[in-house]
Amino acid sequence: MQKLQDSLKPIVALCKRRGFIYPGSEIYGGFANTYSYGPYGAELKKNIKDLWWRLFVHERRDMVGLDGPILLHPKTWQASGHVEGFVDALIDCKACKSRFRADHLIEEALHKSADGMNLKQMTEEIQKHKLKCPKCGAQDFTEARVFNLMFHTHMSKTGADGDIAYLRPETAQAIFVDFKNIIDTMRVKIPFGVAQIGKAFRNEITPGNFVFRVIEFEQMEIEYFIREADWQKTFDHWLAAMHSWCKKIGLSKNHVHEKEHPKELLSHYSKRTVDLVYDFPFGTSELYGLAYRTDFDLSRHAECSGQSLFYTDPETKEKFIPHVIEPTFGVERTILALLCNAYDEEMLENGETRTVLHFAPCVAPVKVAVFPLMKKEPLSEKAQAVFALLQRLWHCEYDDSGAIGKRYRRQDELGTPYCITIDFETLENDTLTLRDRDSMKQERLAIGQLIETLSKKLV
Ligand code: ATP
Repeated sequence: MQKLQDSLKPIVALCKRRGFIYPGSEIYGGFANTYSYGPYGAELKKNIKDLWWRLFVHERRDMVGLDGPILLHPKTWQASGHVEGFVDALIDCKACKSRFRADHLIEEALHKSADGMNLKQMTEEIQKHKLKCPKCGAQDFTEARVFNLMFHTHMSKTGADGDIAYLRPETAQAIFVDFKNIIDTMRVKIPFGVAQIGKAFRNEITPGNFVFRVIEFEQMEIEYFIREADWQKTFDHWLAAMHSWCKKIGLSKNHVHEKEHPKELLSHYSKRTVDLVYDFPFGTSELYGLAYRTDFDLSRHAECSGQSLFYTDPETKEKFIPHVIEPTFGVERTILALLCNAYDEEMLENGETRTVLHFAPCVAPVKVAVFPLMKKEPLSEKAQAVFALLQRLWHCEYDDSGAIGKRYRRQDELGTPYCITIDFETLENDTLTLRDRDSMKQERLAIGQLIETLSKKLV
């Protein structure tokens, strides 16, 4: 079992040091809660998204993909309830001007849930218990007030209020808005799903915990359209599929749990929601969500757009608005869970500590690293030939600088599952060594067997 770090610090440091994740706009002093994915982070992210698309779109016959716009017609967000309801309660410290979520303040200071409290009750609770500002210690808060989490921008026409457009806070609505186009142009039959991967933006009041809560992130979402009667069995199917995904990407089963939302706290559109939560070093928190959105969204869009969003059964000609099961996966939270799950500092027999990321091969940014034992001919030529052979199939790295042990350590920190060394014996009999990241054991292998062996190992 993987030991959890009690802090994110070593992971954040490794991410910066090894080119996974950099703080955003660092040369200008940083731009709070934005991050840039460096070369290895970009590979990791792409592997996650490609694998997700392959498993949930290409390997199924009941799914199609979509790539909708970030800027949707503003009426979309009125119909979906986001203009009115996508809000948090915020409170400001008058002394130091720090801003907090009122519910978080209550929960953290009083260890009780603020779910279901209205603004007045939260303000009273904070005053009654004389809660202090976590930053400066003052007891001088404003009243709690609502704050909409949607970022907005102005369209070019006049800049007047009427020209406001919102950056989407979830990808889901882009799918609902195109539901009619999909049923009109594709030969989809209920049950079927539409999958989308894309950016979402939320003006979170208190972002934090590295990439766990950021203002710009990516979602991998599915809207799965069904008949109402089938919602329970479809819900169970997707819950199982989400667990299989966690297993596939290598998350330890012991750290992934289900959290059922109590009925009285469900979002306005949901009849049932189960979160998959992960044991992050800072606490057990939401990784993914699964919601039964009923026919809420399609009905609202039909009402607000005046368009018919009925589906007609091709055999019975029955017309109805489909119900929806929505599995949603955050890309950044996947990355953070994978990093926490994979990170390890191991004490070696010689007393050294090795830092290693035990990534599953399917997500590892680099699959194989190729080293000539020494940077000299004909070892280099042979190693480059092996590298060229593998490069066509997998993302590989070539490294000929420094002692071989250091080169292994560098790859361990990147989570590269296999390293290949070309040595003098290679020149004699065309064999090489294949070193396993986790066991650190090396096996000798004929070059002719390399591709077949790696194909089996890198699934
Ligand atoms: P939370 O309760 O943590 O704010 P949420 O319930 O609002 O999350 P959803 O609206 O269900 O989140 O969003 C779907 C998924 O998008 C989440 O499960 C998560 O993986 C991801 N996500 C949501 N908000 C953020 C954020 N601010 N930063 C990174 N990922 C996010």
